[in-house]
Amino acid sequence: MAYSYTAPLADMRFVIERVLEAPASWRACPSFAELDAETGAAVLAEAARFASEVLQPTNAPGDLEGCTLDAQGNVRTPAGYREAYRAFVEGGWPALPCDPAWGGQGLPLVLDAAMREMLSACNHGWNMYPDLLHGAYETIKAHGSEELKARYLGKVATGEWLAAMALTEPGAGSDLGALRTKAEPRADGSVAVSGHKIFISGADHDLSDNVVHLVLARLQAPGEEAPPGTRGLSLVLVPKWLPSSQGQGTRNAWVVEGIEQKMGIHGSATCAVRYEGATGWLVGEPHRGLAAMFLMMNSARLHVGLQGLGHQEMATQNALRYAFEREQFRGPIAGLPAMRHLLLRAQALTEGQRAIAYRAALAIDEAHHHADADRRALAASLAALLTPVVKAFCTHHGFHGAAAVQQVFGGYGYVHEFGIEQTVRDARIAMVYEGTNEIQAIDLLQRKVLADGGRALAVLLEECEAEAARTAAADPALAEFAAALREQVDSAGQTTAAITEAAKADAQAPLRAADDYLVGVAHLLLAWAWAASARSAKAMAASPFSEGKLQRMRYGLVHILPQAAVHWQRARACGLALPAVQLP
Ligand SMILES: Cc1cc2nc3c(=O)[nH]c(=O)nc-3n(C[C@H](O)[C@H](O)[C@H](O)COP(=O)(O)OP(=O)(O)OC[C@H]3O[C@@H](n4cnc5c(N)ncnc54)[C@H](O)[C@@H]3O)c2cc1C
Repeated sequence: MAYSYTAPLADMRFVIERVLEAPASWRACPSFAELDAETGAAVLAEAARFASEVLQPTNAPGDLEGCTLDAQGNVRTPAGYREAYRAFVEGGWPALPCDPAWGGQGLPLVLDAAMREMLSACNHGWNMYPDLLHGAYETIKAHGSEELKARYLGKVATGEWLAAMALTEPGAGSDLGALRTKAEPRADGSVAVSGHKIFISGADHDLSDNVVHLVLARLQAPGEEAPPGTRGLSLVLVPKWLPSSQGQGTRNAWVVEGIEQKMGIHGSATCAVRYEGATGWLVGEPHRGLAAMFLMMNSARLHVGLQGLGHQEMATQNALRYAFEREQFRGPIAGLPAMRHLLLRAQALTEGQRAIAYRAALAIDEAHHHADADRRALAASLAALLTPVVKAFCTHHGFHGAAAVQQVFGGYGYVHEFGIEQTVRDARIAMVYEGTNEIQAIDLLQRKVLADGGRALAVLLEECEAEAARTAAADPALAEFAAALREQVDSAGQTTAAITEAAKADAQAPLRAADDYLVGVAHLLLAWAWAASARSAKAMAASPFSEGKLQRMRYGLVHILPQAAVHWQRARACGLALPAVQLP
Protein backbone atom coordinates (compact mmCIF):
# COMPACT_ATOMS: atom_id res chain seq x y z
CA MET A 1 0.00 0.00 0.00
CA ALA A 2 1.45 3.37 -1.02
CA TYR A 3 1.52 5.99 1.70
CA SER A 4 -0.57 8.72 0.11
CA TYR A 5 -2.71 11.72 0.91
CA THR A 6 -6.24 12.67 -0.01
CA ALA A 7 -7.14 16.02 1.48
CA PRO A 8 -10.19 15.62 3.74
CA LEU A 9 -12.03 18.28 1.74
CA ALA A 10 -15.51 17.11 2.79
CA ASP A 11 -14.60 17.41 6.46
CA MET A 12 -12.77 20.71 5.97
CA ARG A 13 -15.85 22.14 4.26
CA PHE A 14 -18.11 20.69 6.94
CA VAL A 15 -16.11 22.45 9.66
CA ILE A 16 -15.73 25.75 7.82
CA GLU A 17 -19.23 26.04 6.39
CA ARG A 18 -21.44 24.19 8.88
CA VAL A 19 -19.73 24.03 12.27
CA LEU A 20 -18.10 27.48 12.20
CA GLU A 21 -20.51 29.06 9.71
CA ALA A 22 -17.54 30.99 8.39
CA PRO A 23 -19.31 32.30 5.25
CA ALA A 24 -21.70 34.28 7.52
CA SER A 25 -18.70 35.68 9.36
CA TRP A 26 -17.07 36.65 6.03
CA ARG A 27 -20.15 38.64 5.10
CA ALA A 28 -19.67 40.66 8.30
CA CYS A 29 -16.01 41.37 7.46
CA PRO A 30 -15.72 44.08 4.77
CA SER A 31 -12.45 42.57 3.46
CA PHE A 32 -14.13 39.20 2.78
CA ALA A 33 -17.63 40.39 1.92
CA GLU A 34 -17.32 39.21 -1.70
CA LEU A 35 -16.22 35.70 -0.71
CA ASP A 36 -18.71 32.83 -0.69
CA ALA A 37 -18.57 29.19 0.34
CA GLU A 38 -18.17 27.93 -3.23
CA THR A 39 -15.15 30.15 -3.89
CA GLY A 40 -13.60 29.07 -0.59
CA ALA A 41 -14.17 25.42 -1.51
CA ALA A 42 -12.59 25.94 -4.93
CA VAL A 43 -9.48 27.42 -3.29
CA LEU A 44 -9.20 24.39 -0.99
CA ALA A 45 -9.68 21.93 -3.85
CA GLU A 46 -6.83 23.57 -5.78
CA ALA A 47 -4.59 23.62 -2.67
CA ALA A 48 -5.36 19.91 -2.19
CA ARG A 49 -4.23 19.18 -5.73
CA PHE A 50 -0.91 20.97 -5.12
CA ALA A 51 -0.39 19.19 -1.79
CA SER A 52 -1.00 15.64 -2.90
CA GLU A 53 0.19 15.80 -6.53
CA VAL A 54 3.19 18.16 -6.33
CA LEU A 55 4.34 18.10 -2.71
CA GLN A 56 3.66 14.65 -1.32
CA PRO A 57 5.86 12.84 -3.89
CA THR A 58 8.88 14.80 -2.56
CA ASN A 59 8.28 13.75 1.06
CA ALA A 60 9.90 10.32 1.44
CA PRO A 61 12.80 10.98 -0.99
CA GLY A 62 13.51 14.31 0.75
CA ASP A 63 13.58 12.52 4.11
CA LEU A 64 16.20 10.07 2.85
CA GLU A 65 18.30 12.69 1.05
CA GLY A 66 18.21 15.52 3.60
CA CYS A 67 19.93 18.90 3.22
CA THR A 68 23.61 19.50 2.54
CA LEU A 69 26.07 22.34 3.04
CA ASP A 70 28.21 22.85 -0.07
CA ALA A 71 31.87 23.86 -0.17
CA GLN A 72 30.90 27.56 -0.47
CA GLY A 73 28.80 27.34 2.70
CA ASN A 74 25.45 27.38 0.89
CA VAL A 75 22.61 25.08 1.95
CA ARG A 76 21.12 22.74 -0.68
CA THR A 77 17.63 21.31 -0.20
CA PRO A 78 16.64 17.83 -1.43
CA ALA A 79 15.78 17.14 -5.09
CA GLY A 80 12.36 18.39 -6.11
CA TYR A 81 12.07 20.98 -3.36
CA ARG A 82 12.97 23.91 -5.61
CA GLU A 83 10.49 22.90 -8.30
CA ALA A 84 7.72 22.42 -5.73
CA TYR A 85 8.49 25.82 -4.22
CA ARG A 86 8.47 27.51 -7.63
CA ALA A 87 5.04 26.01 -8.35
CA PHE A 88 3.86 27.15 -4.90
CA VAL A 89 4.93 30.75 -5.55
CA GLU A 90 3.55 30.77 -9.11
CA GLY A 91 0.22 29.56 -7.72
CA GLY A 92 0.14 32.58 -5.39
CA TRP A 93 -0.14 30.30 -2.34
CA PRO A 94 2.35 32.04 0.01
CA ALA A 95 0.32 35.23 -0.10
CA LEU A 96 -3.11 33.64 0.45
CA PRO A 97 -4.02 35.59 3.61
CA CYS A 98 -1.83 38.67 2.96
CA ASP A 99 -3.07 42.17 2.17
CA PRO A 100 -3.63 42.77 -1.58
CA ALA A 101 -1.79 46.10 -1.10
CA TRP A 102 1.37 44.00 -0.62
CA GLY A 103 0.70 41.47 -3.36
CA GLY A 104 -1.46 39.18 -1.24
CA GLN A 105 -4.75 37.50 -2.11
CA GLY A 106 -6.58 38.89 0.91
CA LEU A 107 -8.30 35.58 1.74
CA PRO A 108 -9.28 34.53 5.28
CA LEU A 109 -6.80 32.82 7.57
CA VAL A 110 -9.27 29.99 8.05
CA LEU A 111 -8.72 28.96 4.41
CA ASP A 112 -4.97 29.39 4.87
CA ALA A 113 -5.21 27.15 7.95
CA ALA A 114 -6.77 24.35 5.91
CA MET A 115 -4.02 24.73 3.32
CA ARG A 116 -1.31 24.64 6.05
CA GLU A 117 -2.81 21.43 7.39
CA MET A 118 -2.51 19.88 3.90
CA LEU A 119 1.07 21.07 3.37
CA SER A 120 2.24 19.74 6.73
CA ALA A 121 0.56 16.40 6.11
CA CYS A 122 2.26 16.04 2.74
CA ASN A 123 5.75 17.32 3.55
CA HIS A 124 6.48 18.91 6.90
CA GLY A 125 10.19 19.36 6.09
CA TRP A 126 9.44 21.36 2.93
CA ASN A 127 6.64 23.28 4.61
CA MET A 128 9.08 24.61 7.20
CA TYR A 129 10.41 27.07 4.60
CA PRO A 130 7.18 28.87 3.64
CA ASP A 131 5.53 28.34 7.04
CA LEU A 132 7.42 31.24 8.61
CA LEU A 133 6.52 33.70 5.89
CA HIS A 134 3.21 34.82 7.23
CA GLY A 135 4.56 35.60 10.69
CA ALA A 136 7.48 37.54 9.21
CA TYR A 137 5.08 39.41 6.95
CA GLU A 138 2.85 40.36 9.89
CA THR A 139 5.79 41.46 12.01
CA ILE A 140 7.36 43.65 9.33
CA LYS A 141 3.93 45.05 8.41
CA ALA A 142 3.11 45.97 12.01
CA HIS A 143 6.55 47.10 13.22
CA GLY A 144 8.83 47.79 10.25
CA SER A 145 9.79 51.29 9.13
CA GLU A 146 8.31 52.54 5.85
CA GLU A 147 11.69 51.94 4.22
CA LEU A 148 11.87 48.34 5.43
CA LYS A 149 8.31 47.70 4.34
CA ALA A 150 8.98 49.10 0.89
CA ARG A 151 12.07 46.93 0.52
CA TYR A 152 10.94 43.65 2.05
CA LEU A 153 7.22 43.34 2.67
CA GLY A 154 5.99 42.69 -0.87
CA LYS A 155 8.77 40.18 -1.55
CA VAL A 156 8.13 38.32 1.70
CA ALA A 157 4.35 38.32 1.21
CA THR A 158 4.58 36.78 -2.23
CA GLY A 159 7.24 34.28 -1.21
CA GLU A 160 9.83 35.70 -3.62
CA TRP A 161 12.09 35.93 -0.56
CA LEU A 162 11.75 33.53 2.35
CA ALA A 163 12.19 34.37 6.04
CA ALA A 164 13.78 32.76 9.10
CA MET A 165 13.32 33.41 12.79
CA ALA A 166 16.58 33.52 14.77
CA LEU A 167 16.04 33.40 18.52
CA THR A 168 17.68 30.32 19.98
CA GLU A 169 21.28 30.28 21.22
CA PRO A 170 23.26 27.54 22.94
CA GLY A 171 22.55 29.06 26.38
CA ALA A 172 19.13 30.48 25.58
CA GLY A 173 16.27 28.20 24.52
CA SER A 174 13.02 28.67 26.43
CA ASP A 175 14.76 31.36 28.47
CA LEU A 176 15.19 34.02 25.81
CA GLY A 177 16.26 36.55 28.43
CA ALA A 178 19.61 34.74 28.53
CA LEU A 179 20.50 35.40 24.91
CA ARG A 180 23.73 37.22 24.12
CA THR A 181 23.77 38.12 20.42
CA LYS A 182 24.61 41.82 20.15
CA ALA A 183 23.36 44.56 17.82
CA GLU A 184 25.57 47.67 17.80
CA PRO A 185 24.16 50.89 16.34
CA ARG A 186 25.96 52.43 13.38
CA ALA A 187 25.97 56.07 12.29
CA ASP A 188 23.93 55.33 9.13
CA GLY A 189 20.98 53.98 11.17
CA SER A 190 21.77 50.32 10.59
CA VAL A 191 23.09 47.97 13.28
CA ALA A 192 25.93 45.44 13.30
CA VAL A 193 24.81 42.02 14.56
CA SER A 194 27.34 39.64 16.15
CA GLY A 195 26.69 36.34 17.86
CA HIS A 196 25.92 32.69 17.53
CA LYS A 197 22.44 31.25 16.92
CA ILE A 198 21.54 27.58 16.75
CA PHE A 199 18.63 25.47 15.47
CA ILE A 200 17.56 28.14 12.95
CA SER A 201 15.12 26.60 10.47
CA GLY A 202 15.71 27.63 6.90
CA ALA A 203 18.44 30.15 7.77
CA ASP A 204 19.80 29.36 4.33
CA HIS A 205 18.59 27.28 1.37
CA ASP A 206 18.30 27.34 -2.40
CA LEU A 207 14.55 27.96 -2.67
CA SER A 208 14.62 31.77 -2.89
CA ASP A 209 17.30 34.26 -3.93
CA ASN A 210 17.31 36.07 -0.62
CA VAL A 211 16.55 34.97 2.95
CA VAL A 212 15.36 37.53 5.50
CA HIS A 213 16.31 36.77 9.11
CA LEU A 214 14.42 38.28 12.00
CA VAL A 215 17.05 38.14 14.74
CA LEU A 216 16.51 38.73 18.43
CA ALA A 217 19.56 40.55 19.82
CA ARG A 218 20.74 42.94 22.54
CA LEU A 219 20.98 46.49 21.23
CA GLN A 220 23.94 48.16 22.90
CA ALA A 221 26.49 50.77 21.92
CA PRO A 222 30.15 49.67 22.30
CA GLY A 223 31.06 49.81 26.00
CA GLU A 224 27.40 49.88 27.09
CA GLU A 225 25.15 47.12 28.41
CA ALA A 226 21.58 46.52 27.18
CA PRO A 227 18.98 46.15 29.95
CA PRO A 228 19.13 42.61 31.38
CA GLY A 229 16.69 39.80 30.60
CA THR A 230 13.95 40.04 28.00
CA ARG A 231 13.67 43.83 28.49
CA GLY A 232 16.97 44.28 26.65
CA LEU A 233 15.96 42.43 23.51
CA SER A 234 15.48 44.11 20.16
CA LEU A 235 14.34 42.67 16.85
CA VAL A 236 16.60 43.13 13.84
CA LEU A 237 16.00 42.33 10.18
CA VAL A 238 19.17 40.81 8.72
CA PRO A 239 18.98 39.73 5.06
CA LYS A 240 21.30 37.29 3.33
CA TRP A 241 21.90 39.73 0.49
CA LEU A 242 22.23 43.44 1.20
CA PRO A 243 20.24 45.80 -0.98
CA SER A 244 21.79 47.40 -4.01
CA SER A 245 20.26 49.68 -6.58
CA GLN A 246 21.87 47.49 -9.26
CA GLY A 247 20.44 44.11 -8.26
CA GLN A 248 21.33 41.52 -5.69
CA GLY A 249 23.99 43.50 -3.79
CA THR A 250 26.65 42.06 -1.50
CA ARG A 251 26.54 39.00 0.74
CA ASN A 252 25.86 39.94 4.36
CA ALA A 253 28.36 38.98 7.07
CA TRP A 254 26.85 35.79 8.46
CA VAL A 255 27.69 32.17 7.80
CA VAL A 256 25.99 28.82 8.28
CA GLU A 257 28.43 26.81 10.39
CA GLY A 258 26.57 23.53 10.11
CA ILE A 259 23.29 21.69 9.61
CA GLU A 260 21.96 19.45 12.39
CA GLN A 261 21.53 15.69 11.86
CA LYS A 262 18.19 15.04 13.47
CA MET A 263 15.27 12.68 14.14
CA GLY A 264 12.89 14.01 11.47
CA ILE A 265 12.04 16.84 9.03
CA HIS A 266 15.31 16.04 7.24
CA GLY A 267 14.31 18.23 4.32
CA SER A 268 14.32 21.28 6.59
CA ALA A 269 17.79 22.74 7.14
CA THR A 270 18.25 23.34 10.88
CA CYS A 271 21.24 25.67 10.89
CA ALA A 272 23.87 26.95 13.29
CA VAL A 273 24.53 30.56 12.23
CA ARG A 274 27.38 32.89 13.13
CA TYR A 275 26.72 36.61 12.68
CA GLU A 276 29.99 38.49 12.19
CA GLY A 277 29.00 42.14 12.35
CA ALA A 278 26.15 41.47 9.89
CA THR A 279 24.20 44.50 8.71
CA GLY A 280 20.63 44.76 9.91
CA TRP A 281 17.87 47.23 10.72
CA LEU A 282 15.71 47.48 13.79
CA VAL A 283 12.12 46.30 13.48
CA GLY A 284 10.04 48.22 16.00
CA GLU A 285 11.24 50.04 19.10
CA PRO A 286 14.64 49.42 20.67
CA HIS A 287 14.37 46.92 23.57
CA ARG A 288 10.80 46.03 22.56
CA GLY A 289 11.88 43.16 20.35
CA LEU A 290 10.06 40.43 22.21
CA ALA A 291 6.72 42.21 21.86
CA ALA A 292 7.31 42.57 18.11
CA MET A 293 8.44 38.96 17.89
CA PHE A 294 5.33 37.75 19.72
CA LEU A 295 3.25 38.85 16.77
CA MET A 296 5.26 36.51 14.60
CA MET A 297 5.25 33.77 17.22
CA ASN A 298 1.46 33.75 17.67
CA SER A 299 0.86 33.25 13.99
CA ALA A 300 3.70 30.72 13.89
CA ARG A 301 2.18 28.88 16.87
CA LEU A 302 -1.13 28.41 15.07
CA HIS A 303 0.83 27.09 12.08
CA VAL A 304 2.69 24.64 14.31
CA GLY A 305 -0.60 23.41 15.75
CA LEU A 306 -1.76 22.84 12.17
CA GLN A 307 1.38 20.79 11.57
CA GLY A 308 0.23 18.47 14.35
CA LEU A 309 -3.24 18.29 12.82
CA GLY A 310 -1.78 17.49 9.39
CA HIS A 311 0.27 14.64 10.85
CA GLN A 312 -2.76 13.16 12.59
CA GLU A 313 -4.80 13.29 9.40
CA MET A 314 -2.00 11.74 7.32
CA ALA A 315 -1.38 8.95 9.82
CA THR A 316 -5.07 8.24 10.39
CA GLN A 317 -6.19 8.08 6.78
CA ASN A 318 -3.29 5.79 5.84
CA ALA A 319 -3.89 3.57 8.86
CA LEU A 320 -7.54 3.30 7.82
CA ARG A 321 -6.65 2.27 4.28
CA TYR A 322 -4.13 -0.24 5.59
CA ALA A 323 -6.64 -1.69 8.06
CA PHE A 324 -9.06 -2.46 5.23
CA GLU A 325 -6.36 -4.06 3.06
CA ARG A 326 -4.52 -6.09 5.67
CA GLU A 327 -6.12 -9.45 6.41
CA GLN A 328 -5.43 -11.54 9.49
CA PHE A 329 -7.63 -14.31 10.91
CA ARG A 330 -9.47 -14.48 7.56
CA GLY A 331 -10.66 -10.88 7.51
CA PRO A 332 -9.51 -7.26 7.33
CA ILE A 333 -8.03 -6.07 10.63
CA ALA A 334 -10.39 -3.06 10.37
CA GLY A 335 -13.07 -5.37 11.78
CA LEU A 336 -11.18 -6.16 14.99
CA PRO A 337 -12.47 -4.27 18.06
CA ALA A 338 -8.94 -3.36 19.19
CA MET A 339 -8.14 -1.78 15.80
CA ARG A 340 -11.53 -0.11 15.64
CA HIS A 341 -10.83 1.58 18.98
CA LEU A 342 -7.48 2.87 17.71
CA LEU A 343 -8.96 4.18 14.47
CA LEU A 344 -12.14 5.67 15.91
CA ARG A 345 -10.16 7.40 18.63
CA ALA A 346 -7.80 8.88 16.04
CA GLN A 347 -10.67 10.03 13.83
CA ALA A 348 -12.70 11.58 16.65
CA LEU A 349 -9.64 13.42 17.96
CA THR A 350 -8.47 14.62 14.54
CA GLU A 351 -11.89 15.86 13.51
CA GLY A 352 -12.41 17.55 16.89
CA GLN A 353 -9.04 19.28 16.70
CA ARG A 354 -9.76 20.43 13.15
CA ALA A 355 -12.81 22.31 14.43
CA ILE A 356 -10.77 23.80 17.30
CA ALA A 357 -7.81 24.87 15.17
CA TYR A 358 -9.99 26.41 12.48
CA ARG A 359 -12.01 28.14 15.22
CA ALA A 360 -8.79 29.82 16.33
CA ALA A 361 -8.05 30.91 12.75
CA LEU A 362 -11.58 32.30 12.40
CA ALA A 363 -11.12 34.23 15.65
CA ILE A 364 -7.93 35.80 14.24
CA ASP A 365 -9.80 36.69 11.03
CA GLU A 366 -12.59 38.34 13.01
CA ALA A 367 -10.14 40.11 15.32
CA HIS A 368 -8.62 41.83 12.29
CA HIS A 369 -11.48 42.22 9.87
CA HIS A 370 -14.91 42.20 11.56
CA ALA A 371 -16.94 45.35 10.95
CA ASP A 372 -17.99 45.56 14.62
CA ALA A 373 -15.34 46.83 17.05
CA ASP A 374 -16.76 44.92 20.05
CA ARG A 375 -16.76 41.71 18.06
CA ARG A 376 -13.14 42.38 17.03
CA ALA A 377 -12.12 42.77 20.68
CA LEU A 378 -13.91 39.58 21.77
CA ALA A 379 -12.40 37.65 18.88
CA ALA A 380 -8.91 38.93 19.74
CA SER A 381 -9.14 37.68 23.33
CA LEU A 382 -10.51 34.33 22.15
CA ALA A 383 -7.70 33.99 19.60
CA ALA A 384 -5.09 34.70 22.28
CA LEU A 385 -6.63 32.07 24.56
CA LEU A 386 -6.98 29.39 21.87
CA THR A 387 -3.52 29.76 20.31
CA PRO A 388 -1.46 27.99 23.03
CA VAL A 389 -4.09 25.24 23.30
CA VAL A 390 -4.01 24.61 19.55
CA LYS A 391 -0.21 24.66 19.50
CA ALA A 392 0.27 22.29 22.41
CA PHE A 393 -2.69 19.93 22.10
CA CYS A 394 -2.58 19.44 18.31
CA THR A 395 1.18 18.86 18.30
CA HIS A 396 0.94 16.44 21.25
CA HIS A 397 -1.52 14.38 19.25
CA GLY A 398 0.40 14.95 16.01
CA PHE A 399 3.11 12.79 17.55
CA HIS A 400 1.26 10.58 20.05
CA GLY A 401 -1.75 10.15 17.75
CA ALA A 402 0.44 9.18 14.81
CA ALA A 403 2.39 6.79 17.03
CA ALA A 404 -0.89 5.28 18.28
CA VAL A 405 -2.13 4.41 14.79
CA GLN A 406 1.36 3.22 13.78
CA GLN A 407 0.25 0.17 15.78
CA VAL A 408 -2.35 -0.60 13.10
CA PHE A 409 0.52 -1.34 10.68
CA GLY A 410 2.05 -3.93 13.01
CA GLY A 411 5.70 -4.55 12.05
CA TYR A 412 5.26 -2.77 8.71
CA GLY A 413 4.70 0.48 10.61
CA TYR A 414 8.33 0.33 11.68
CA VAL A 415 9.56 0.02 8.08
CA HIS A 416 10.45 3.16 6.12
CA GLU A 417 8.63 2.30 2.89
CA PHE A 418 5.25 2.17 4.65
CA GLY A 419 5.61 5.87 5.40
CA ILE A 420 4.10 6.18 8.84
CA GLU A 421 7.41 5.97 10.68
CA GLN A 422 8.44 9.20 8.91
CA THR A 423 5.23 10.91 9.99
CA VAL A 424 5.92 9.90 13.59
CA ARG A 425 9.52 11.15 13.44
CA ASP A 426 8.60 14.38 11.67
CA ALA A 427 5.77 15.12 14.09
CA ARG A 428 7.93 15.01 17.24
CA ILE A 429 9.64 18.41 16.87
CA ALA A 430 6.38 20.34 16.81
CA MET A 431 5.97 19.66 20.55
CA VAL A 432 9.27 21.47 21.12
CA TYR A 433 9.77 24.47 18.86
CA GLU A 434 7.84 27.77 18.79
CA GLY A 435 7.80 27.59 22.58
CA THR A 436 7.72 24.09 24.06
CA ASN A 437 4.35 22.67 25.01
CA GLU A 438 5.18 23.30 28.68
CA ILE A 439 5.77 26.98 27.86
CA GLN A 440 2.40 27.05 26.02
CA ALA A 441 0.68 25.68 29.11
CA ILE A 442 2.20 28.40 31.29
CA ASP A 443 1.27 31.02 28.69
CA LEU A 444 -2.34 29.81 28.74
CA LEU A 445 -2.80 29.70 32.49
CA GLN A 446 -0.60 32.58 33.69
CA ARG A 447 -0.99 35.12 30.89
CA LYS A 448 -4.21 34.29 29.09
CA VAL A 449 -6.35 33.24 32.08
CA LEU A 450 -5.03 34.46 35.44
CA ALA A 451 -3.38 37.74 34.40
CA ASP A 452 -6.45 38.65 32.39
CA GLY A 453 -8.77 38.07 35.36
CA GLY A 454 -10.56 35.27 33.49
CA ARG A 455 -12.15 37.63 30.93
CA ALA A 456 -11.05 35.70 27.83
CA LEU A 457 -12.01 32.43 29.49
CA ALA A 458 -15.46 33.87 30.19
CA VAL A 459 -15.86 34.59 26.44
CA LEU A 460 -15.03 30.95 25.67
CA LEU A 461 -17.29 29.57 28.39
CA GLU A 462 -20.16 31.71 27.16
CA GLU A 463 -19.67 30.42 23.63
CA CYS A 464 -19.68 26.85 24.97
CA GLU A 465 -22.83 27.41 26.99
CA ALA A 466 -24.52 28.89 23.92
CA GLU A 467 -23.50 25.81 21.91
CA ALA A 468 -24.85 23.50 24.63
CA ALA A 469 -28.19 25.32 24.49
CA ARG A 470 -28.26 25.18 20.68
CA THR A 471 -27.37 21.49 20.61
CA ALA A 472 -29.99 20.60 23.23
CA ALA A 473 -32.66 22.55 21.36
CA ALA A 474 -31.75 21.03 17.99
CA ASP A 475 -32.73 17.44 18.75
CA PRO A 476 -33.53 15.45 21.94
CA ALA A 477 -31.18 12.74 20.65
CA LEU A 478 -28.28 15.18 21.16
CA ALA A 479 -29.00 15.85 24.84
CA GLU A 480 -25.95 13.85 25.96
CA PHE A 481 -23.66 16.16 23.92
CA ALA A 482 -25.17 19.25 25.55
CA ALA A 483 -24.89 17.72 29.04
CA ALA A 484 -21.26 16.71 28.52
CA LEU A 485 -20.37 20.19 27.29
CA ARG A 486 -22.06 21.83 30.29
CA GLU A 487 -20.13 19.50 32.58
CA GLN A 488 -16.85 20.61 31.00
CA VAL A 489 -17.85 24.28 31.37
CA ASP A 490 -18.45 23.66 35.09
CA SER A 491 -15.13 21.84 35.48
CA ALA A 492 -13.26 24.66 33.75
CA GLY A 493 -14.89 27.28 35.98
CA GLN A 494 -14.31 25.35 39.20
CA THR A 495 -10.74 24.45 38.37
CA THR A 496 -9.86 28.02 37.39
CA ALA A 497 -11.33 29.27 40.68
CA ALA A 498 -9.38 26.65 42.66
CA ILE A 499 -6.09 27.58 40.96
CA THR A 500 -6.75 31.30 41.46
CA GLU A 501 -7.26 30.62 45.16
CA ALA A 502 -4.17 28.40 45.44
CA ALA A 503 -2.06 31.05 43.68
CA LYS A 504 -2.85 33.55 46.45
CA ALA A 505 -1.03 31.34 48.94
CA ASP A 506 1.69 30.03 46.63
CA ALA A 507 2.79 31.71 43.39
CA GLN A 508 4.19 28.36 42.19
CA ALA A 509 0.77 26.68 42.28
CA PRO A 510 -0.26 27.65 38.71
CA LEU A 511 3.06 26.31 37.39
CA ARG A 512 2.22 22.93 38.93
CA ALA A 513 -1.26 23.01 37.38
CA ALA A 514 -0.44 24.39 33.93
CA ASP A 515 0.01 21.22 31.83
CA ASP A 516 -3.10 19.49 33.15
CA TYR A 517 -5.06 22.72 32.92
CA LEU A 518 -4.23 23.05 29.22
CA VAL A 519 -5.33 19.47 28.55
CA GLY A 520 -8.51 20.15 30.54
CA VAL A 521 -9.29 23.23 28.39
CA ALA A 522 -8.53 21.18 25.27
CA HIS A 523 -11.16 18.64 26.38
CA LEU A 524 -13.65 21.42 27.01
CA LEU A 525 -12.98 22.47 23.41
CA LEU A 526 -13.32 18.89 22.18
CA ALA A 527 -16.69 18.68 23.93
CA TRP A 528 -17.67 21.92 22.15
CA ALA A 529 -16.39 20.61 18.78
CA TRP A 530 -18.15 17.26 19.10
CA ALA A 531 -21.44 18.88 20.16
CA ALA A 532 -21.34 21.47 17.36
CA SER A 533 -20.36 18.80 14.83
CA ALA A 534 -23.08 16.41 15.95
CA ARG A 535 -25.66 19.20 15.75
CA SER A 536 -24.44 20.23 12.29
CA ALA A 537 -24.41 16.63 11.05
CA LYS A 538 -27.92 16.06 12.38
CA ALA A 539 -29.12 19.10 10.43
CA MET A 540 -27.88 17.58 7.15
CA ALA A 541 -29.83 15.12 5.03
CA ALA A 542 -28.95 11.59 6.14
CA SER A 543 -25.88 10.33 4.27
CA PRO A 544 -22.88 8.10 4.99
CA PHE A 545 -20.95 11.31 5.83
CA SER A 546 -23.47 12.63 8.36
CA GLU A 547 -24.12 9.19 9.91
CA GLY A 548 -20.40 8.47 10.20
CA LYS A 549 -19.77 11.89 11.70
CA LEU A 550 -22.45 11.38 14.36
CA GLN A 551 -21.04 7.97 15.27
CA ARG A 552 -17.48 9.26 15.62
CA MET A 553 -18.52 12.30 17.65
CA ARG A 554 -20.48 10.01 19.98
CA TYR A 555 -17.43 7.76 20.22
CA GLY A 556 -15.40 10.76 21.39
CA LEU A 557 -18.04 11.64 23.96
CA VAL A 558 -18.21 8.15 25.45
CA HIS A 559 -14.65 6.88 25.09
CA ILE A 560 -12.40 9.95 25.18
CA LEU A 561 -14.07 12.76 27.13
CA PRO A 562 -14.10 10.90 30.51
CA GLN A 563 -10.32 11.28 30.70
CA ALA A 564 -10.81 15.07 31.10
CA ALA A 565 -11.82 14.50 34.73
CA VAL A 566 -8.33 13.22 35.59
CA HIS A 567 -6.70 16.38 34.20
CA TRP A 568 -9.10 18.77 35.93
CA GLN A 569 -8.62 16.90 39.19
CA ARG A 570 -4.82 16.95 38.93
CA ALA A 571 -4.88 20.67 38.07
CA ARG A 572 -6.98 21.35 41.17
CA ALA A 573 -4.39 19.53 43.30
CA CYS A 574 -1.85 22.25 42.50
CA GLY A 575 -1.76 23.43 46.12
CA LEU A 576 0.13 20.27 47.08
CA ALA A 577 3.91 20.60 47.13
CA LEU A 578 5.79 18.54 44.53
CA PRO A 579 8.69 16.45 45.75
CA ALA A 580 12.06 17.40 44.27
CA VAL A 581 13.45 15.01 41.66
CA GLN A 582 16.69 13.39 42.78
CA LEU A 583 19.60 11.90 40.96
CA PRO A 584 19.95 8.21 41.83
C1 LIG B 1 14.34 21.08 14.34
C2 LIG B 1 14.35 22.35 15.15
C3 LIG B 1 13.99 23.54 14.54
C4 LIG B 1 14.04 24.73 15.27
N1 LIG B 1 13.77 25.92 14.63
C5 LIG B 1 14.03 27.08 15.28
C6 LIG B 1 13.99 28.34 14.59
O1 LIG B 1 13.67 28.41 13.40
N2 LIG B 1 14.32 29.47 15.27
C7 LIG B 1 14.69 29.44 16.58
O2 LIG B 1 14.99 30.49 17.13
N3 LIG B 1 14.72 28.27 17.28
C8 LIG B 1 14.41 27.10 16.65
N4 LIG B 1 14.47 25.91 17.33
C9 LIG B 1 14.80 25.92 18.74
C10 LIG B 1 13.58 25.62 19.61
O3 LIG B 1 12.68 26.69 19.56
C11 LIG B 1 14.10 25.32 21.02
O4 LIG B 1 14.71 24.05 20.98
C12 LIG B 1 13.01 25.39 22.06
O5 LIG B 1 12.59 26.71 22.26
C13 LIG B 1 13.43 24.81 23.41
O6 LIG B 1 14.68 25.33 23.82
P1 LIG B 1 15.81 24.31 24.28
O7 LIG B 1 15.97 23.29 23.22
O8 LIG B 1 16.99 25.09 24.67
O9 LIG B 1 15.19 23.56 25.53
P2 LIG B 1 15.16 24.10 27.05
O10 LIG B 1 14.66 25.50 27.08
O11 LIG B 1 16.46 23.78 27.67
O12 LIG B 1 14.03 23.15 27.66
C14 LIG B 1 14.27 21.80 28.07
C15 LIG B 1 12.99 21.29 28.75
O13 LIG B 1 12.71 22.10 29.90
C16 LIG B 1 11.39 22.61 29.81
N5 LIG B 1 11.34 23.97 30.35
C17 LIG B 1 12.22 24.98 30.16
N6 LIG B 1 11.82 26.07 30.79
C18 LIG B 1 10.64 25.77 31.38
C19 LIG B 1 9.73 26.49 32.21
N7 LIG B 1 9.92 27.76 32.55
N8 LIG B 1 8.64 25.83 32.66
C20 LIG B 1 8.41 24.54 32.34
N9 LIG B 1 9.23 23.82 31.57
C21 LIG B 1 10.34 24.42 31.10
C22 LIG B 1 11.07 22.64 28.33
O14 LIG B 1 9.67 22.63 28.11
C23 LIG B 1 11.76 21.38 27.84
O15 LIG B 1 10.93 20.27 28.02
C24 LIG B 1 14.40 24.71 16.63
C25 LIG B 1 14.73 23.49 17.24
C26 LIG B 1 14.74 22.34 16.52
C27 LIG B 1 15.20 21.06 17.19
